Amino acid sequence: MKHATSALQIAITITAVFLALLTLLESWFFINVNPLGMYFIVLFVLIIIFLFTVLFLFKIKKLEATEANFIDTLKKFESNYLTLQVEKNKILSIITSFSDGILILKNNGTIDIINSQAERILGVLAKEVLHKPLLDLEVHFPRINTVGSLLLSDVKYSFTKELKIEKDLIIQIHVNPLFVKREYMGKLIIFHDITKEKVVAEMKTDFISSVVHQLNGPLSAMKLSLEMLLHGDFGKMRKEQKEVIEKLNQKNKVLVTLVGDLLSMARIEERYSYHYTPVDLEGVIHSVVALNKDEIEIKKITYKFEKSKAKFPKIMLDKEKINLVIQNLFENAIKYTHVRGKITISLKEINGNAELAIKDSGIGIPESQQKKLFTKFFRGTNATKLHVVSSGLGLFIAKNIVEAHKGKIWCKSKEGKGSIFFISIPMRRVDSVRS
Ligand code: ADP
Repeated sequence: MKHATSALQIAITITAVFLALLTLLESWFFINVNPLGMYFIVLFVLIIIFLFTVLFLFKIKKLEATEANFIDTLKKFESNYLTLQVEKNKILSIITSFSDGILILKNNGTIDIINSQAERILGVLAKEVLHKPLLDLEVHFPRINTVGSLLLSDVKYSFTKELKIEKDLIIQIHVNPLFVKREYMGKLIIFHDITKEKVVAEMKTDFISSVVHQLNGPLSAMKLSLEMLLHGDFGKMRKEQKEVIEKLNQKNKVLVTLVGDLLSMARIEERYSYHYTPVDLEGVIHSVVALNKDEIEIKKITYKFEKSKAKFPKIMLDKEKINLVIQNLFENAIKYTHVRGKITISLKEINGNAELAIKDSGIGIPESQQKKLFTKFFRGTNATKLHVVSSGLGLFIAKNIVEAHKGKIWCKSKEGKGSIFFISIPMRRVDSVRS
């Protein structure tokens, strides 16, 4: 409506000018215009001018709206850009001030971002390595050479690995692939220097080992003497004397077990002491059972080993430590099973994992206490009543060892009915192992 009024005003003005011009033409050049014809011409011109002006004004209005929209979009774009810049700067300052080393690799393997901590850990300067392919840098920088194959490995999932880069430099490396809308863009690598923690842990382990070793000698000597006394090697003892010595022997056994478990614990806490070799798990089970043959016979326990017909393949394990796990679980099964009870061991391959189950018909573990299983010094209330030699460290040690093999350990148990302890360890077959 506003446009129509403005257009009408403009049209009337132009027509008035046109009329004035026509009148001038008439008076100056004595041209005689037919009054009716003139009215028609004036009306026609008026309508045409009106229509054009309306159209023109609408176009202008539309253009103004488009321009306003455009300016609005530009403003939004500018503010988004500024926000992005601020966010980018924030991320960059986090990366630079981060106490861990950070490295971002593009999907073509070139270094996109490196912070000063990563420079220190990798023994490089940013200007020497930025925007260069990591593969080409391996030749010039020995530390990059050590971590290179790990960082460039073609895995599209996050993983963490501890690596001894040099004698006094142990690093925990977290590799996280970066995806944008499912498209692989590269990797974010975090280097966490754990050298100090490892040194402290090693010192602690050394301390425990030396104390425990010091205790081990006298305790073993005591054990020997007490057993000789009980055998009557130094003459026959009176009943009361024998009872006291038997009690002493029992207490001494507890101490020997505790010292043995503390020694194993000190060893398992040192992750670098793991030595993986091809291991025949069936063989390990047989040897553990053979070692406990006497106890099985004394308690008249029915024992069964369920295995598949085909020979179980050799897999990469630390034999000594896995032996310790199976021994702990099997000894527990015997210890916590009544006379004439039943123990069954089964070994299967399930989804690429070696799954071992040790089932017994023993005292079981009270449900409310099961969440404490596998923690240091845990002992079930029903187990403490049994007067068996125990330290409460066996399952803790077993869990540590299984987890160091990237496996899992768990238990299903019902008090008074029995327990099943399971171990599942990823099977690294001998032929699939790269050194
Ligand atoms: P220990 O047997 O020397 O006490 P472990 O760490 O091996 O130490 O076991 C911790 C506790 O878990 C035991 O004291 C016992 O209460 C419970 N436990 C372990 N294995 C069994 C089992 N097979 N049956 C019943 N209880 C068990």
